[in-house]
Amino acid sequence: MILRVLGCSGGEAEGDRLTGLLVNGTVAIDAGCLTMALKIPEQVAIRHIFLSHSHLDHICTLPFYTKNIFGHIDVPVEIHALPETLDALRRHLFNDELWPDFSVIPSPDAPIIRYSEIEPGRVYEVEGLRITAIPVNHLVPTVGYLVEDDHSAFVFTSDTAETDAIYEAANRAKHLDLFITEASFPNEQAWLAEASKHLTPAKLAKEMKKLKRDVPVAVYHLTPGDKPRMLPELEALQHPRLSLLEQDSVFRF
Ligand SMILES: [Zn+2]
Ligand SMILES: [Zn+2]
Repeated sequence: MILRVLGCSGGEAEGDRLTGLLVNGTVAIDAGCLTMALKIPEQVAIRHIFLSHSHLDHICTLPFYTKNIFGHIDVPVEIHALPETLDALRRHLFNDELWPDFSVIPSPDAPIIRYSEIEPGRVYEVEGLRITAIPVNHLVPTVGYLVEDDHSAFVFTSDTAETDAIYEAANRAKHLDLFITEASFPNEQAWLAEASKHLTPAKLAKEMKKLKRDVPVAVYHLTPGDKPRMLPELEALQHPRLSLLEQDSVFRF
């Protein structure tokens, strides 16, 4: 499996938060920076997009993406997400006000994107991968994903406060090569993390105790302006296999 972390700007800007992963070139997990990170042929090669939730930092390039691939694809790109997430896309984004409704353009029978509701816990087999959505604990309905093939796997928790099921899934998985999770605010903003259902480094340390697999842990979603404060707090955890999820990095399992 080849996992590419999609970066969008480098440096200190939104790149640590605009979230996107690309698996084997054809399956994207979240769409926070598809159009910034990928050339047009790479965008056209994507066949499935699995969204974790409706927050903008995870979906914001979808409109430009639909426009970019228009005229280049014969089969609609499947957008897999919870019913609530798809409903948010329909009502607030592809609503013919903020952006045209590409789920019926150029025609309802042959649109650019097709919505596909996911059921947590069910295994979806696409492009040689097995993908399982697992509910996590965030402000809006949100799932993380276990992504597996025959000999490798990774977990992406997406945005979440304290949660259990996805750790249980990671512990149960036949293979596990990487665990990606979040830390959004510095320790002194624990109140903000609680209010917005995210983690601080201290909260992440407690979560890590649930992970019984000895695998690398990659952390994303640091608030850009707070990164200088958070890096020492993450280092202080002294977790031997914890690092930042670097933009534009590529994992080969
Ligand atoms: Zn979120
Ligand atoms: Zn987010």
